[in-house]
Amino acid sequence: MAQRMPAIFFGHGNPMNAIGHNGYTEAWRRIGEQTPRPKAILAISAHWYIPATAVTANAAPRTIHDFGGFPPELSQVQYPAPGDPALASRVRQLLAPLDVKPDESWGLDHGTWSVLKHVYPAADVPVVQLGIDETKPASFHFELGSRLTPLRDEGILIAGSGNLVHNLHAYAWGRHPAAPYDWALRFEAKARELMLAGDYAPLIDYEKLGRDALLSVPTPEHYLPLLYVLGTRRDGEGLSFPVEGMDGGSISMLAVRVGNKA
Ligand code: ZN
Repeated sequence: MAQRMPAIFFGHGNPMNAIGHNGYTEAWRRIGEQTPRPKAILAISAHWYIPATAVTANAAPRTIHDFGGFPPELSQVQYPAPGDPALASRVRQLLAPLDVKPDESWGLDHGTWSVLKHVYPAADVPVVQLGIDETKPASFHFELGSRLTPLRDEGILIAGSGNLVHNLHAYAWGRHPAAPYDWALRFEAKARELMLAGDYAPLIDYEKLGRDALLSVPTPEHYLPLLYVLGTRRDGEGLSFPVEGMDGGSISMLAVRVGNKA
């Protein structure tokens, strides 16, 4: 049996991080250096939010530039990591009887490659993406995460990519530095406390956490990848925050690592 891999939620933030060098990208690089090398990565990105659960099944996924209004050099980034059709089949097997569609049209979106470009810059670890079914409640996504847990003992790195706090309406585009909003800090602190305590029910039912949660999670897609990662945590397992920070006042860059330290 392979060494148990951690599961990691990354706060990806601004797509420009893909070609930037800052405290966040440095921390991502260190995560790559300090994590046992995975056989493959199962990425759950906020940017593949569709009316079904699907998994990329292509052997050579394309790099998708799913954004607008950024400099041309960002649209030229390629992340040519191979796919892993066998991992896609294994995911479908683990999630059965749920009908998980094998998908040949998607590839790697910027939620995945803007981070992995720093974690595994050589793009030599195969990557499969799992699509997030937008029609399902948060509890469904937590449950899918828990059903994917065996992958961690098979050398697979489960990597969620979103942002715990993601309010683009309040985000200070180009006006840096911007002080974090108090509601963003309060929601992040509350979520950290609940995660450390293993108290997931309020995180699944986050809409009931009040105004701070509604402002921090105005739409679910950047939040749900975190629930997949939390769903893989076993009793007594460690949880840590290898990246911290609030970008532009309203984007939490917090990374959450599930797994005991080596
Ligand atoms: Zn995003």
